[in-house]
Amino acid sequence: MTSGLRTLPIRVAPLPGEALDSWLETLAHRSMVSFREILIALGLPGRRDGSLPDLTRYLEPEQAEQAAAVSGVPADRLHAMTLRQYDGHALVLHPHRRTVNRMQLWGRNGSRYCPQCLHEHDGRWQLRWRLPWSFACTRHRILLPHACPSCNQRTRHGRVSIFRDLPPHQCPTTLKPSGALCQTDLALAPAAALREDSPVLASQRWINDLLDRVEQGQAQSLPTPQMIFNDLRALASWVLRIAEPGDFPTLDPHVEQACQDYAGDGQFSPTSAAVTAGGLTHAVHILQQGSDKTNIATLRTLLERDGERLDLMPLGDINKRWRAHSTALQQLIWQAMDTRMANVDRLRFRSCTTRPRPPHKMNETLTTARADRVPQLLWRGWTARFLPAAGVRNIGNFRAALAVALLLPGASKRHFDPLISMLGHQAQLDVHYTLAELAQQGHDGVLTGLCEIADYLDTQPVPIDYERRRGLTGDGLLPADDWVSICTQTGVHPGQEARLLSVRRYLYQRITGNDLRQAPESLRITTAEEAGGVAVVPFRITAALLGALDEYGENYLRGLGIDEPLTWEPPADLAAGLCLPGRPVDVRRAHRLICAEGQAPAVAAKEMGVALESIRHCFEQHPPSSPWPSKSGGSWVDPSRPIARRSRLAAAQARQQAHTMLTDEFLRREYLDARKTVREIASETHLPKRLISEVLNQSGLIASREPSRKPIVDEQWLREQYIRQARTLASIATELDMSPTTLTRHLRAVGIEIRPRGGRRSVSRTELESVPPLIRPALTDRRCWGRLQRFREAMEHRTLAEASRQLGTTRSVLYTQFAALEGDLGVQLYIRPRRGESLRPTKAGQAVMDALTDSEGARPGGNTIETGIPPASRQNP
Ligand SMILES: [Zn+2]
Ligand SMILES: [Zn+2]
Repeated sequence: MTSGLRTLPIRVAPLPGEALDSWLETLAHRSMVSFREILIALGLPGRRDGSLPDLTRYLEPEQAEQAAAVSGVPADRLHAMTLRQYDGHALVLHPHRRTVNRMQLWGRNGSRYCPQCLHEHDGRWQLRWRLPWSFACTRHRILLPHACPSCNQRTRHGRVSIFRDLPPHQCPTTLKPSGALCQTDLALAPAAALREDSPVLASQRWINDLLDRVEQGQAQSLPTPQMIFNDLRALASWVLRIAEPGDFPTLDPHVEQACQDYAGDGQFSPTSAAVTAGGLTHAVHILQQGSDKTNIATLRTLLERDGERLDLMPLGDINKRWRAHSTALQQLIWQAMDTRMANVDRLRFRSCTTRPRPPHKMNETLTTARADRVPQLLWRGWTARFLPAAGVRNIGNFRAALAVALLLPGASKRHFDPLISMLGHQAQLDVHYTLAELAQQGHDGVLTGLCEIADYLDTQPVPIDYERRRGLTGDGLLPADDWVSICTQTGVHPGQEARLLSVRRYLYQRITGNDLRQAPESLRITTAEEAGGVAVVPFRITAALLGALDEYGENYLRGLGIDEPLTWEPPADLAAGLCLPGRPVDVRRAHRLICAEGQAPAVAAKEMGVALESIRHCFEQHPPSSPWPSKSGGSWVDPSRPIARRSRLAAAQARQQAHTMLTDEFLRREYLDARKTVREIASETHLPKRLISEVLNQSGLIASREPSRKPIVDEQWLREQYIRQARTLASIATELDMSPTTLTRHLRAVGIEIRPRGGRRSVSRTELESVPPLIRPALTDRRCWGRLQRFREAMEHRTLAEASRQLGTTRSVLYTQFAALEGDLGVQLYIRPRRGESLRPTKAGQAVMDALTDSEGARPGGNTIETGIPPASRQNP
């Protein structure tokens, strides 16, 4: 044969998955030339010393091009026959040294083989047999031998002799001391058979799928094969080192035995396919089973055996050891650690979930950001889910502690203080205690739930900025007027000031989520009674009232420039699949027990076997549509307790009444069309003038009323009354239904001089002596006659109101005048009539009336007594 062939006379197509060396040897054998000549023909360097690096590991690009040109096999096909395609995925190569890195991914040299495959394919070798991950032939169900059964040399291991001229299925080892070649037919080598259902075969198939992904160039999708192989190596070496019989499902006996006999530490890839099979099958099992309980328990056993005193092992060490591995594996390790960790750390590492992850310093900003999304007190709905049926000692502390605990997942430090102050809590909170209580009672689901919520808050949009809500002072929230107006709308009795304060506090908490124990002073709760007042609100509100309060709250927020929903909670479906202590409340039953049967909420809660707080939440979610009486007399519809007079509430109620009565239509008719004065409207409606003016001002009707063209009061009449009859300003003003100030203005306008105050003309001594002594004290000035006479006339009517109408004045004027008389005479003149009774004089009153009649006959000019009422002829001068 001559060297320097341009192309090979015989062409041999590589088999699928064949290794480069196998193909080259076959080519040489078929071409009846030496291996060395084939290498030279293909332009692949041969060294003078007769050995060369194993080309099957790596082919330089130009080598591949040249070999491709000569052999007719495309260059990429040639590359695919080298380990290069697995580089960085299933093993790591030193490219120029053309060696496999044994420190990573269990890299190994040499090649295992399937004798039966060799036999079937003319002794040709598969590339995959060189990988540490190949330990069984799934077709022939055998473990792969790794050495020649005769000379015991590892196959395809070490440098390649270029002088060998053997078919690839023969052992090329040079035997010492004879120097002869072994030449054992490896296709006939014995191999250990595996059961058809052997887990070893299943795990080899699983691994083969991964290798398929690499070969098909699909190694980028997560988790990448590289990550998985890395995990497999770590788990397999760990298992080989510490697993004991019984830890895992049993494998084929010879595999089990090989594993137990194995003395290595698993750091490097075990030579034996049986040991490799044992380690990797258990490793694949662990990854496949995932969060399965038994699997976690197995891992926990391994961890415990590994670290003798796991409780004392710093979490940081465990983290360091596993953090280079895939997320999936780390999650399994932390789940296995969960029962060994303090509750705080279980939350920080999220080890109580199926997706644990160690906290990281970088997470601190995340914690701060999450604090903006958490209220001071845990949401009511979630409180109801997390609350044990027996309740807790202090619901406020419970809710506050769990809100703080929401900041723990991912927190880099174990300290609570910064987290507590992030939520604006001023008091110390024993978060440890709350978490320990829950865990002790077996309510681990709460910890898991907290992690789920934290994850949700970190990743999903949250419509409320709780940090801003925490800062709300509640200034101007629900003043008496607004409360009364809401009550009027919703048919609720406004109650006393205490009720308003409770509702205001309730609304403040509903809006802000704040702890009322540290609210601004005007809203702060300091006593148990105050706390009780707020706690009872959900058991008093009706659907209409709650709706109105919420609408009010929303407007309040808008007023502050906050365009957010009033309340919000993380979705309830985050609790799906969790075992939580809070049981759902049967709404109908709760309504029946409390509303229809009048049971106290606490009693009803006990009977239903749920926490009181859960019932409270239930009533908030499903407030009864109509109000109901309660045994404690706490219904808010019961009007039997009137509003305290002179209270802000009473004033608000009056205002509310004014707004209701004085409709636009009413004001147009009475004020604009009938040109009635405020005074007139007041006397007709019995509303205070102040409120009428207020409503008028707001209605904007004042400007629409045309000013009077003629003077209201006749000048001559005024002169007659004020100057000649010397009546007082007050008396005339009362008669004209105007204020003394207005009257003064009128008088001045027509040039009448105003008398100095106190210039009343007294009754003359002679006149005084002519009247019975009984009425003398009342005669302080001339007008007194009028008062006395009026009194007598009034007593002929059934009521003061009727009398006032008849006398052409108002009830209040009569009342004031008679009160003055009584004051002067020092006796009560008439019995204040109750409902249904008629006006009647007392005995003293009757005596005064008689004395008046007696004196009238005796008094000079008795018929000109000033009655305070102008004669009919003067009324319209
Ligand atoms: Zn096979
Ligand atoms: Zn041999």
